[in-house]
Amino acid sequence: MAFSLSSRFLTMIMMLVSCIAFIPTSLKGSFSSIRMQAKPEEWLKRKGVWDTKDLSPLLEANKAWAARTAAANPAFFGNMKNMPHAPKILWLGCADARVPANEIIGEEPGSVFVHRNIANNVIATDFSSMSVLQYAVDYLKVRHVVVCGHYDCGGVKAALSAYDHKAPLENWLKNIRDVARIHEKELSGISDITAKQNRLVELNAKEQALNMLKTATVQKRREETRFAIEQGSTEFAFVEPQVHAFVYEPRTGLAKKIPLGVADDASDAAELKAYKMYEKTTALAVVPKDATTAPAAAADRKKELELDFKLFTLRLFSQ
Ligand SMILES: [Zn+2]
Repeated sequence: MAFSLSSRFLTMIMMLVSCIAFIPTSLKGSFSSIRMQAKPEEWLKRKGVWDTKDLSPLLEANKAWAARTAAANPAFFGNMKNMPHAPKILWLGCADARVPANEIIGEEPGSVFVHRNIANNVIATDFSSMSVLQYAVDYLKVRHVVVCGHYDCGGVKAALSAYDHKAPLENWLKNIRDVARIHEKELSGISDITAKQNRLVELNAKEQALNMLKTATVQKRREETRFAIEQGSTEFAFVEPQVHAFVYEPRTGLAKKIPLGVADDASDAAELKAYKMYEKTTALAVVPKDATTAPAAAADRKKELELDFKLFTLRLFSQ
């Protein structure tokens, strides 16, 4: 009898689970865990909020999310109201929908300043990413910059194809084609196309992180903080910002770090000498907060830089 009851109970549970699995997908705004359990083909064929003309279910889902978040953590939105916008990390990642910045590194809203584009390119003439970088470094004073690529990247795959995607997309992909050209020797030795794409993802993350390290914004800030540290400031534990290359694997959820091939610590980047044009000119703006540690040295440095500027002005007007 006991066996029969528990067997019936189990059957009921199983029926209930099957029913839940077939709940119309338009109702699934609050059923994300069920949604993620669907098989890939079911997930791709499902109806979603995007099938509605006005996206109103999206706003309903937002209300439900806000209520859930407030219930789980009553102080969450209150804290947000009082929280200054002071993220410590700039994240430049791919626009791919499977690679959300905060979630994959377990960070709450507030700590990551984000910019995303196709295949996480860092291009010095791109006003959008360069404005984000400038604001992040000069104003928000982020301590780290992460350039994050990911395996199975459509942008990287496209850049390995012999197909003209037409402007402006093809112009953008050209930057990744350049990375492939720089590393042609290594890539040509890989015959498996998926392995080649994966390796280009890694090389692209590295090259884009190096592009980040080479920007005037990053170089200037690194010289400022390096000078402050040399003068005994306790404000910085290391030269800022540190630049990192990550690659994320959507199939496992795990990210790994790709070595930049240049020393990226406080004594770094001798290999990037061509980009070190700020060594003598930018420290002027930084006076160590802890002025008692090295006031004379800071004053000397300031005088030296002022003299440089006077000599430069003199040369300019005497021509
Ligand atoms: Zn991508």
